[in-house]
Amino acid sequence: MSTFAEPAATPAALLLLGRGRDLASERGVECPGDLPAPSDPGLVERARAAKAALGDQVFVLGHHYQRDEVIEFADVTGDSFKLAQQAAARPDSPYIVFCGVHFMAESADVLTAEHQQVVLPDLAAGCSMADMAAISQVEDAWDDLVDAGVADDVVPVSYMNSTAAIKAFTGRHGGTICTSSNARTALDWAFAQRPAGRGKVLFLPDQHLGRNTAVLELGLSLGDCVLFDPHKPMGGLTREQLQNARMILWRGHCSVHGRFSLDSVNDVRERVPGVQVLVHPECRHEVVSAADHVGSTEKIIQTLAAAPAGSSWAIGTELNLVRRLARENPQLDVTFLDRTVCFCSTMNRIDLPHLVWSLESLAAGRVVNRIVVDPDVAHWARVALDQMLALPGITAKD
Ligand code: SF4
Repeated sequence: MSTFAEPAATPAALLLLGRGRDLASERGVECPGDLPAPSDPGLVERARAAKAALGDQVFVLGHHYQRDEVIEFADVTGDSFKLAQQAAARPDSPYIVFCGVHFMAESADVLTAEHQQVVLPDLAAGCSMADMAAISQVEDAWDDLVDAGVADDVVPVSYMNSTAAIKAFTGRHGGTICTSSNARTALDWAFAQRPAGRGKVLFLPDQHLGRNTAVLELGLSLGDCVLFDPHKPMGGLTREQLQNARMILWRGHCSVHGRFSLDSVNDVRERVPGVQVLVHPECRHEVVSAADHVGSTEKIIQTLAAAPAGSSWAIGTELNLVRRLARENPQLDVTFLDRTVCFCSTMNRIDLPHLVWSLESLAAGRVVNRIVVDPDVAHWARVALDQMLALPGITAKD
């Protein structure tokens, strides 16, 4: 009964996807050798042939937000942490082709064995959220916290969606990484590292996940949270504000989930009577507060799989995933939360031509677009990731 309706196009999103444009100018990063044309009718066959030639030598990971044409060739799909763990669990595969974005490939390089090489098919596949916290900015911010006399009370908690350098900063300062599934446990742990009532968390880089978890799950107030703007002296905060804060939120956000608004929620409730609104915790606080359910990508998938037939759902997350969920759950009425498209433009950089190019290059003995994390950075990033795995009640699935 699938009733999924495509949201309307927005000029910006279509432009980033390259439709109606000069494709040659939208390749992002030069690919040595021959990048096949998107119009090549033999692309699917070429991808199959290259993958078959490589056999167990290659393990292809596909993030949930990837295009269908790419997901078709993934050996496993999942969120960033699950994928990095899956790569580490496959030491027999020397090549890991990560169909996702740059920080994910970095995490895979940190968690996999030395002989495994991680390839990102298009180096233009970055993450705007991860890029909102540059390591130099975060180190300057830490100096501000020292100057304000609060650094000893602060434990950094960094979202998985951050660069390896930020994860290493977190490890060096005794903090932990979290995912959207275990953010609450990570915050509980972080506050427990300091005497009761004195602990503070510096949450990087997604202000929304930090705020939503602190307020809606830990019961802190919005007034306990301050927003640290790296473009302003002392984050735009006074010494007193930093001293009184419990949560110091980095001014970063996901450009995809940040698009959903309270209007989107109100509008879909009018359009679809009885709809249940299910959103990702990277959405803004007012959106998450107005939704019926909030959950990580994996939780969104599980919730729909368990939903009663005939129920209606409006989903606030990336469009590639929502489309796929609508297709995989024809017994449900699945709607995209916004009226216009909401792709992750950088995730969409990985397309079939880039996947074919990277697989054929590997089959020809050339490792292209390898992602390598500096050993010292990798060491401290691993310390922070291991801390997450040591959190109470955390399993590999979280
Ligand atoms: S969906 Fe958001 S957080 Fe995920 S890669 Fe895209 S911009 Fe980054």
